[in-house]
Amino acid sequence: MAGVNQDRCPGVLRPHQAADGAMVRVRVPGGQTSGTALAALGRAAERHGRGLLQLTSRAGLQVRGLPSDLPDAFEAAVAAAGFLPSASHERVRNVVASPLTGLHGGLADLRPLVRALDDALQADDALAGLSGRFLFGLDDGRGDVAALEPDLTYRALGPDHGLLVVGADRGRAVALEDAVPALLALARGFDAARAASGVWRVRELPGWVDGLVGFAPVPVPPAPEPPLGAVGAHAVVGVPLGFLSPVQLAAVTAVAGTGAVVVTPWRSLVVGHGADRLAELTAVGLVADPTSPWTAVSACVGAPWCASGRVDTQALVRSVAAEDRRWPRTHVSGCERRCGAPAGPHRDLVAPTRDELLAAAEPRLVVHV
Ligand code: SF4
Repeated sequence: MAGVNQDRCPGVLRPHQAADGAMVRVRVPGGQTSGTALAALGRAAERHGRGLLQLTSRAGLQVRGLPSDLPDAFEAAVAAAGFLPSASHERVRNVVASPLTGLHGGLADLRPLVRALDDALQADDALAGLSGRFLFGLDDGRGDVAALEPDLTYRALGPDHGLLVVGADRGRAVALEDAVPALLALARGFDAARAASGVWRVRELPGWVDGLVGFAPVPVPPAPEPPLGAVGAHAVVGVPLGFLSPVQLAAVTAVAGTGAVVVTPWRSLVVGHGADRLAELTAVGLVADPTSPWTAVSACVGAPWCASGRVDTQALVRSVAAEDRRWPRTHVSGCERRCGAPAGPHRDLVAPTRDELLAAAEPRLVVHV
């Protein structure tokens, strides 16, 4: 039966012991943070761990290479940066939101809803035991978060109303002001229903979904391409393989200052009001070109940092990224668990050789005139 194992999702207070040391996962509801907070987290990562900030497919951040006995000073630094407001609920604060909401496009500014949902979640004692895999989604109407198939989604249809969607496509109308209590009531209902079965995700419990009163099939919006480059006044930059180096972080925080930085679920960052300083970001290897191989090729952590990895996936991908080839959406995994694989259609390569990986791409056509 799916999901009967113990919920092993890591958090700051429950590190995962990897081959390269302890790894912690830092929740960033809605991906919403600031240059100041990100810089503080980066300093803690450099002082106690590998120094990299790893972006996750749920718009969170991971710090790796930490001592197995996590230093109190590291936890204190994470908390001081604002990333650990609740010890009891830290692993259930899984909220993805449209990264550009309130900044550019969309039918509604859902940033206040991110804060309201996070606050209400932390105040709800009954939800402290919700699975660390359970995902809330807040889609401002552009369809980007809906494509990630969260367990529960508020999907805006206008500035003050939208759909409450359970799983992929069962929904009902809801006013924006009622969205948070409605989402939490559904989460409590699911948590009670799932207890006997041991599953973690809504899609694993279709009988519960079918039994909800007042919900009917709703259309699934088409998923837009993740943005990249200048978007209005803002910069969206890809982070190759999702690992943000100290040099890259310094560039991001220099551009953002104390302003907004948004972690996206696509291993990229929105740097608030950074559109006219894109060159500073690309100069340190961040990606603003939609044709870059880094927009199409991703990899799990792989060997040697992960003990299960049969190949060094990151080195493999870096070795081919400079090749002048056209890449279909491709994910490279070091073993069959396929960590970090994208949600949409993609070419799935498990522990490939370099030749096998190159064979997955096509040479660019060069036209001489
Ligand atoms: S897919 Fe396998 S090798 Fe890659 S990070 Fe996950 S467990 Fe490790």
